Amino acid sequence: MNAEHIRGWLRLHLPAARAMQGALLGVGAPLGWLLILAVDGHSPSESLRASPGLFAYMLLATVGVFAGFGWKMGQHEEAERHRGLHDGLTGLYNAEFFHIALKNLVRAMRRHDQPIALVIFDLDHFKRINDNFGHAAGDEVLRNVGRAVIAAARGDEIAARVGGEEFALLLPGSDLHDAVAAAERLRLILAKKACCVVDGQQHAVTASFGCAVRDTWSEDVGSELFEAADQAMYAAKQAGRNRVMIEADIAAPQTSVA
Ligand code: GH3
Ligand code: MG
Ligand code: MG
Repeated sequence: MNAEHIRGWLRLHLPAARAMQGALLGVGAPLGWLLILAVDGHSPSESLRASPGLFAYMLLATVGVFAGFGWKMGQHEEAERHRGLHDGLTGLYNAEFFHIALKNLVRAMRRHDQPIALVIFDLDHFKRINDNFGHAAGDEVLRNVGRAVIAAARGDEIAARVGGEEFALLLPGSDLHDAVAAAERLRLILAKKACCVVDGQQHAVTASFGCAVRDTWSEDVGSELFEAADQAMYAAKQAGRNRVMIEADIAAPQTSVA
């Protein structure tokens, strides 16, 4: 583990980082006291020997209090950061974060010469849920979609809510086959889990999926990828909904209906 790893770890674990910074600040109190004694003409080492208990107390108390405050501050910062990156209703990443992540991922994949795949999906006839059962029922469906997608997404995949009832799953290093398999897996999961319960009756919602992949690089590859997956998703809507479609110019089409 080198300094870069430690810095990366601290950036991800704000409570620990702030607690450590607090602890370092806390050391400053007894050191400052020793400095004042030295300026006043007393020997710091003699002062330490004369009142070891006082200095131990000062050190432990200030380190403990500053570290504790630091930890709390880090927790608040972390919660704030989480709120800034996530959608409050579904718990998925929000659209702003998604588009930044897409740009960064394009850069990383280009460097490693790896493909990047994107699945976009949109709930089918979602307006009917709102119209028939109310906005709260619609929100319940969206929360259930969020839970299901978070449970289904793999560690390196980025799942986001990119519109009202439109979602995206970014798959670093995946090809079109992987993307279609992930979309098909999600389609089946959502057919079971994207539902709301009204008066004891369960109402299911399906979704239409579009997949696209890029492994050659241009300036606008991120927005091209998004556009291609979005178009494939609209093609899936037009073809009858509740299915997975790939961008039109890639061979080996794979569509399916429940
Ligand atoms: P399609 O299959 O063509 O996608 O039909 P649709 O009804 O899903 O699409 P449409 O664009 O006509 O309607 C989307 C609806 O999603 C309308 C909007 O009120 C609803 N919606 C968007 N965001 C939210 C939300 O946060 N909560 C709820 N309850 N509804 C939302
Ligand atoms: Mg829709
Ligand atoms: Mg939509």
